[in-house]
Amino acid sequence: LLVASETPALAGNGPAYKDSWRPVKVRVADLLSRMSLDDKLGQMMQAERLGVKSPADVTTGRLGSLLSGGSSQPTPNTPVTWADMYDGFQKAALATPLGIPLIYGVDAVHGHNGLYGATVFPHNIGLGATRDPNLVQRIGRATAEEVSGTGIDWDFAPCLCVARNDRWGRTYESFGEVPQLATEMTSIITGLQGKELNRPGSVMATAKHYVGDGGTTGGVNEGNTEISEQELRQIHLPPFKAAIQRGVGSVMISYSSWNSVKLHANSYLVNDVLKKELGFKGIVVSDYNGVDKIDGKTGFTPEEVEASINAGIDMVMVPYEWQKFIDTLRTLVQDGRVPMSRIDDANKRILTKKFELGLFEHPLTDRRFLTTIGSEQHRDLARQAVRESQVLLKNENHVLPLSKRDKIFVAGKNADDIGNQSGGWTVGWQGTSGPVIPGTTILQGITSNSKKVTYAKDGTGIDKSYDVAVAVVGETPYAEGKGDRPQGMGLDAADLATLQKLKDSGVPTVVVLVSGRPLDIAAQLPDWAGLVESWLPGSEGQGVADVLFGAYNPTGKLPVTWMRSADQQPINAGDGKPALFPFGYGLHYPRHW
Ligand code: BGC
Repeated sequence: LLVASETPALAGNGPAYKDSWRPVKVRVADLLSRMSLDDKLGQMMQAERLGVKSPADVTTGRLGSLLSGGSSQPTPNTPVTWADMYDGFQKAALATPLGIPLIYGVDAVHGHNGLYGATVFPHNIGLGATRDPNLVQRIGRATAEEVSGTGIDWDFAPCLCVARNDRWGRTYESFGEVPQLATEMTSIITGLQGKELNRPGSVMATAKHYVGDGGTTGGVNEGNTEISEQELRQIHLPPFKAAIQRGVGSVMISYSSWNSVKLHANSYLVNDVLKKELGFKGIVVSDYNGVDKIDGKTGFTPEEVEASINAGIDMVMVPYEWQKFIDTLRTLVQDGRVPMSRIDDANKRILTKKFELGLFEHPLTDRRFLTTIGSEQHRDLARQAVRESQVLLKNENHVLPLSKRDKIFVAGKNADDIGNQSGGWTVGWQGTSGPVIPGTTILQGITSNSKKVTYAKDGTGIDKSYDVAVAVVGETPYAEGKGDRPQGMGLDAADLATLQKLKDSGVPTVVVLVSGRPLDIAAQLPDWAGLVESWLPGSEGQGVADVLFGAYNPTGKLPVTWMRSADQQPINAGDGKPALFPFGYGLHYPRHW
């Protein structure tokens, strides 16, 4: 439906590209014919928000895109200040001679996680445990609404990595170790983008990281995926195919290498496979500083720029040295080392998405969506996702579900810590312990179910008078890099000490693991009466309590194989290694309890 203000060009005055009645193809061709080389090079740049001194830089650089990256200082952190910031940058883009709107990207990888007060959903590994693509699609829509409320048009999600080695610190960004899971969960793309991508309330999604990021040797972040082409195609490629079928607007290139060739310089995998064979028509975006990382030395060279653009990268997350990048690329074009047709192709892809998103018609924040941020409806959806993601792994003598009549002792560093239960990519890039976002902790969820709860973080004070103890232990927040665990994968000393106190008391103990991946727990497991894997549930700790008290009978199934010991890594479904719990494992409560 069009309103009067959107129809000025009907009269036939003004350039064709501004005419929303014309087909996108016609508008793109018209706009492209009016652009200078510098306009085109600027379109291909995605600068970090902190890499522009003021909105005026966007105008002079003719920048096509901005991002608030994971490593940045928090972006203005109320919904309204964020929207105001976005609109300020957008107005600067509209002030360029051709008035091409910019597209702004963030990592909303489990809700609009960079924003204080947003609904924080379970990380992907938990969503993989739900086996519920429909739920995941609704999470996509809810995320898109919250992201749109702050003006943002582009989400660097979903991560479709197939995590094959749990030592990798990004395992929790994966829906699971088999391609079928990420493939099914591409439903989130439909949720994020809506049917036709155009706003209101939709954002462009990103399938990342293309391709093989979860298959590196040793699970090393940004490492080398040393596998045959057949294995690459069978394990890592299928989710990208599915994403393209769903019309995903962008694909992000992986930092990793395939058999020692960096993906950022891999013309075969980007040009030939992604664009030609799979028919991807959207924007291929580099990862943050990904071009610079091609040769392993700091500072990008003309050779790296040439290799990456000719390999088929359309937009470059620079993120700071965009002026230098523009100058380098201009020289390469003038010297004939990067063909003009490549620059035009990149621009066509970028502009097509901007038109499809409706950015030319609605460049500024649609503030109707501000009210969806952290709304009750979205929190209810997140709570449902938490419930469905819990995996019951052990339940000796039906210690679970807990009874409201039980005298319960709660302990563990992750019981009352919303930062820990949300993990990385929560306000800060690496995440932080403590009360970093509003919501409910697992302890709050438990105490809202029962009046007979005593809590001591380190387990002090437990005695024989309790019916049951609940220990909420596991990992503390991390993201890429920091999260790799090349050595041990067990519980830390604090957790072991807490658990020892509970064991010494003789009170039956239920362990709730808050972790981004399976941990090496085989030695402690015999001491525990119950075990629930909670993954990284996010802001709605009530959902964990719903399962513990039996308001919801657990349905979650392991999206990964659970090792017997860390030295089994990599361990995956079908590889014949004896697991502690196999892929797909997950218990239920008996029908009547
Ligand atoms: C990550 C990407 C992310 C980008 C922008 C990179 O370090 O690998 O997943 O989208 O930063 O924040």
